[in-house]
Amino acid sequence: MQSNNTRANNLARRFRLWVIRARERLLQRDSIALLEQWEASPLLDVNAVRRRAEDLKYIAALYAYRNSPYYRRAFLAAGIDEQDLQDQRGWDRIPLLEKEDIRQNLEQIYSKNYSGPCQQGRTSGSTGIRLVFDVNRGYPVYSMAAARRGFRWWGVEPGAKLVRIWGTYQGIDQSLRFQIKTAYKSLIDRACGVTSLSAFAVTDPECHQTIDKIAELRPEVVFGYGTALFLVADYALRSSLVKQLASVRLVVYTSEYLTAWQRNRISEAFSCPVVSEYGSVETGVIAYDCPCGLQHIAQEFLDLEVLGEDGIVRPTGKGEAVVTHFFGLKLPLIRYRLGDVIEIVETSSPCRNGMVGKSIASLFGRNNDIIVSPAGNPLHPELFDYVMRTVSGIKRFQIREGSPGQLTIFLEACDGIQHESLAAQVAEVVKAQVGKEFQVLVSVVDRIQEPASGKFRWVIGNPANNQVSGQVARIT
Ligand SMILES: [Zn+2]
Repeated sequence: MQSNNTRANNLARRFRLWVIRARERLLQRDSIALLEQWEASPLLDVNAVRRRAEDLKYIAALYAYRNSPYYRRAFLAAGIDEQDLQDQRGWDRIPLLEKEDIRQNLEQIYSKNYSGPCQQGRTSGSTGIRLVFDVNRGYPVYSMAAARRGFRWWGVEPGAKLVRIWGTYQGIDQSLRFQIKTAYKSLIDRACGVTSLSAFAVTDPECHQTIDKIAELRPEVVFGYGTALFLVADYALRSSLVKQLASVRLVVYTSEYLTAWQRNRISEAFSCPVVSEYGSVETGVIAYDCPCGLQHIAQEFLDLEVLGEDGIVRPTGKGEAVVTHFFGLKLPLIRYRLGDVIEIVETSSPCRNGMVGKSIASLFGRNNDIIVSPAGNPLHPELFDYVMRTVSGIKRFQIREGSPGQLTIFLEACDGIQHESLAAQVAEVVKAQVGKEFQVLVSVVDRIQEPASGKFRWVIGNPANNQVSGQVARIT
């Protein structure tokens, strides 16, 4: 019986793998082939890794100079010309690219000579500035290969069943077009072994449903927003439901920073390792936790630097992450400020997975609090980002929870947007999501106050609901 089960499982896994490869080839992004190519290349020592990154970043900058009017202007203004880039000099003079630069100059940043297929990206709003942009269709393949490699470090192979706890417009976007698109996507995802559940369903009864679903689907991997995973794990522990999670061999969280206590709590509930994937919507996966204890940066396709408090950008050390992607054919990203505060180290002896070079030793950014309704139900911070994306004309936003049940939303409006109607629209969509328990005040301001230290947070909860003890932890 057991062997029949094993055989059936193996067959199902092979079928999922076949569907994954067919889908990726159709979209011209075979991430499994790319990963095989990386793994087949000879192991490089730290100097060779550095040299390769140096070559690729100058090639990417030269491409940007030749094809993007924005970069060309910016480079020339900084005293860098084509010859400098060909001779690989002057990197430190290349100006940093801000989110705001992309927002204001998107058409000028796009490569004029790329005419292939594109797909749209939207930032998660983790700095409160939202971007909508196009990338070349093959662009995500690097990120996908890096994620597959990260899974492999933890013994999980392509085709493994996965439950994804992620943001969704379900319940926010009611249009028929959206419903059809979602149904189609989830059908294909299911054939690839991926089932998506809502990260916004985090009240106790909803966590119970998520756990039941995991017990039914028996995935090897659970992937999702850190806070949502924490809330599910916390509920499983409080309600003695951990047996329901026994199939899971790996939990991967992303987008949010978790405290060690939260990670331990997730690990206790799922009885397996909890690992972090670091990335951004603009670049995809940047780094992956390895069993060796470091989070290795995918230096095959990008380079990370850090901007120190003294304003100097360095290859390693602590500061704000600055990324250069080597293969942005439509949207070149050269020295782009991500907004997260990280610490980069460089190692010269290969770890057990053969990785040398740059790794992230610590991630300090991406802090958002959980808002709790007067009845005690938590609201996932990312929910507000999804809701805000349905309203156009918002440059940045911040939500503050005052006394229980009171939300104040600060907005920076785009130029030419009528403030009163924007405020009314935002109040309406937020109220529709948070329910009658909340009083919602919206205020359009010239500039949202920046924190004196640390990263911009777009959701600031009531400190009473965000303590380390008890049900919900403060994420700082
Ligand atoms: Zn390692």
